[in-house]
Amino acid sequence: MATSKSRKAQPLMKQDRDRRFALEGNPFEAMMSRFDDAATRLNLEPGLYRVLRAPEKQIIVSVPIPRDNGEIEVFTGFRVLHNTSRGPAKGGIRFDMNVSLDEVKALAAWMTWKCAVVNLPFGGSKGGVICDPSTMSDREIERVTRRYTSAIIETLGPESDVPAPDVNTNERVMAWIMDTYSMHKRHTVTGVVTGKPIAMGGSLGRKDATGRGCLVVTQCALAKRKMKTRGATVAVQGFGNVGSTAARLMSEAGMKIVAVSDKSGGVFNARGLDIADCLKWVADKKFLDGYHKGERVSNAELLTLKCDVLVPAALENVITSKNADDIQAKIICEGANGPTTAQADVILDNKGVYVIPDILANAGGVTVSYFEWAQDRSGYFWDEETVNDRLHKIMTHSFDEVHGMSVKHKVSMRIGAYMLAIDRVAAMHRMRGLYA
Ligand code: NAD
Repeated sequence: MATSKSRKAQPLMKQDRDRRFALEGNPFEAMMSRFDDAATRLNLEPGLYRVLRAPEKQIIVSVPIPRDNGEIEVFTGFRVLHNTSRGPAKGGIRFDMNVSLDEVKALAAWMTWKCAVVNLPFGGSKGGVICDPSTMSDREIERVTRRYTSAIIETLGPESDVPAPDVNTNERVMAWIMDTYSMHKRHTVTGVVTGKPIAMGGSLGRKDATGRGCLVVTQCALAKRKMKTRGATVAVQGFGNVGSTAARLMSEAGMKIVAVSDKSGGVFNARGLDIADCLKWVADKKFLDGYHKGERVSNAELLTLKCDVLVPAALENVITSKNADDIQAKIICEGANGPTTAQADVILDNKGVYVIPDILANAGGVTVSYFEWAQDRSGYFWDEETVNDRLHKIMTHSFDEVHGMSVKHKVSMRIGAYMLAIDRVAAMHRMRGLYA
């Protein structure tokens, strides 16, 4: 490992950072601009900087399948392993029309930093297929899943690369991946994916884990701000796995959910929404559209509502330089990956908004995925209380560590989280040395 602390690389890093900063909206550049900032503050050796910014492996595959009408269609799939120095790569698979190599690279790197922030023995990866599952039958989704799995099978395995659900994939898709992998291996390998159905080696508590983690770190942030959980007002963007669970658990903890939204738009009620009722509506009608126990708001309006806590839990790049100044929330808990651009970070910092960064805020999901992987490998399963207690312990401890880092270095929680993560991954590289 070239560990020379030559200052020569520093101007290059700054130049890169400025260029990235100009590219608002590109997820890889958004991730790298934070990485550069944290790496510069850590005075990371130039050689190690170059190692950590480059993904270890980038796979692009064709996924040909027969459609139900007999026509052959060829989809494109990706799997990126960003860094595996701390353990097997861990990262979800998304099926979406917006999937691109740049996006998958950014999400894979975010997984490396996320696993390191909560100190799990995993590296980071991500995968995706460019497709629109809403226009496909279950049989077609199954064919895409199985063909994509077989195309990337060399990278997969409990010791090497472990997928999980992400946007538009779920436990059904994980079950197909597990089955396809096991058929190739000639024996059942439950630990190859997490987020599986409970009956086939999934973990109790996994489904709620990301939303539960959001609740825990929001309570930590409220305490730091000397605000009470009970009665704190919350707006949640996204009413899927993360957003709806966060809304439900926050409401059960005594918070007042004043707005929720999904793809179809949002609903606002200053007196607080009945989340159980909203969930019933969505279970029945699929989307919040038409829900009448509140005023309709657009997704853009929801972000700038007056509230104590804003939970963006849908998409990337929704808080940008264009709307950051209008945000009225005192705390932002990033349930989604990459909802805030680097440019918006600066504006929010100046306004004094307390941002719990994605790599900490939504790490509850991968934490219980780690529990699932550990349970599968030991063949011994825990009760839900044990899972939730251990999740709570890891999330509060990680929050305190990130907060400590941000205070020590006088930086935002986001840069504090990146510094903690990069420091941990860099320490592993220094100990292991460079095999060349
Ligand atoms: P999901 O597919 O279950 O839900 C997504 C929600 O966002 C849906 O309610 C959908 O209607 C809504 N949405 C889609 N487009 C929208 C738009 N244009 N405006 C507003 N809302 C829109 O996905 P999820 O698993 O809840 O993931 C949401 C985010 O959280 C993603 O960024 C994902 O990477 C991240 N995340 C998920 C997990 C997990 O365990 N599921 C863990 C960590 C991070």
